[in-house]
Amino acid sequence: MPRTTASAPALSASASAAATPTPEAPAAALAALLPWFAAHQRPLPWRRGYRPYHVWISEVMLQQTQMDRAVDYFLRWTARLPDVAAVAAAREDEVLKLWEGLGYYSRARNLHAAARAMVEGHGARVPEAMDALLALPGVGRYTAAAVRSIAYGHDEPLVDANVARVFCRLFDLDAPVGEAATQRELWRLAGALLPPGRAREHNQALMELGALVCTPRGPRCAACPLAPACEARRLDIAPHRPVPGKKKDITPLALATGVLVHRGRVFVQKRAPGDVWGGLWEFPGGCVEPGETPAQAVVREFMEETGFAVRVAAPLTVIRHGYTRFRVTLHCFALALDADPPAPVLTEAVDWQWAGARELAALAFPAGHRKLLDWLAAGGHLEDLAP
Ligand code: SF4
Repeated sequence: MPRTTASAPALSASASAAATPTPEAPAAALAALLPWFAAHQRPLPWRRGYRPYHVWISEVMLQQTQMDRAVDYFLRWTARLPDVAAVAAAREDEVLKLWEGLGYYSRARNLHAAARAMVEGHGARVPEAMDALLALPGVGRYTAAAVRSIAYGHDEPLVDANVARVFCRLFDLDAPVGEAATQRELWRLAGALLPPGRAREHNQALMELGALVCTPRGPRCAACPLAPACEARRLDIAPHRPVPGKKKDITPLALATGVLVHRGRVFVQKRAPGDVWGGLWEFPGGCVEPGETPAQAVVREFMEETGFAVRVAAPLTVIRHGYTRFRVTLHCFALALDADPPAPVLTEAVDWQWAGARELAALAFPAGHRKLLDWLAAGGHLEDLAP
């Protein structure tokens, strides 16, 4: 839980007596934060005019995504979908293609659904009221507070991973940062420290400080405007704050998939809604079961998922990647049919096609299958496909 010590000069006497941090002394240091932000903020595209649509899209993209990557995706997204109405009118395939590679595809599906709700109920605008924001698909406390403070200027506190790290160091919070009690304390402190009327700049300044100065490794305390009040700096324990939570166990996963080419076209299928890759396209395949080789698995999976009696023509490559708590080894094969294929009998997918090169380029695939496509393209294996 939050820790204060009677000997901590940066905290007020009342804070020490109450055994929870109070914001008086850091508040004085925080007065230096806004000038620091004015001098050091990055020229991010959504900061030009702070259009609510831009703020909303950027905040969703930035969850689980590095800034440089988010900027690239943001620019591509807004060039194609310049406002709420354009997102609502787009096909899901197009939305997922614009999101391809960012992962956590429920974010894209929720953006799509939320845009349609904004067209139906809010005149194609991002709503301003907290309850209206929270009623939208995929919008939780953080995103709603970000839109209200950064886009509309309301006095809403904001805690993301950067702010959490700054506060855990500033106040020397020594409980695991992911615990509910720690999160409650962080939001309480964020609210207490918010300067009225300056939420847009103040919230972004804290996040920018966490991203540029109070970084996870090697915080640059000498360049930090909060240094005079910082407990972790005074105690020389910044690398040990925040206290991490328990690490998630990583589960290895062996998968097999296959590229079945017939008359210059590749068989792909579209995943059903309801799972993490719902709406994305893929090569059929699945888990390698105990006692099975990857080659046996891909033949079995094709039969189960499509009814095709394929044979393995050649191994292609092995792709390794991770997502959420899984470390995936994806065994990839070239497959063949000994007769013209019948229409597939789909058991796990909702659509299918024999795709040429142009169609493959326009479809959104999960990361492992996109890597397989890139591997095929780099090796010249797609050159004989129909355009
Ligand atoms: S003084 Fe150092 S540890 Fe404290 S908030 Fe600033 S950068 Fe972070």
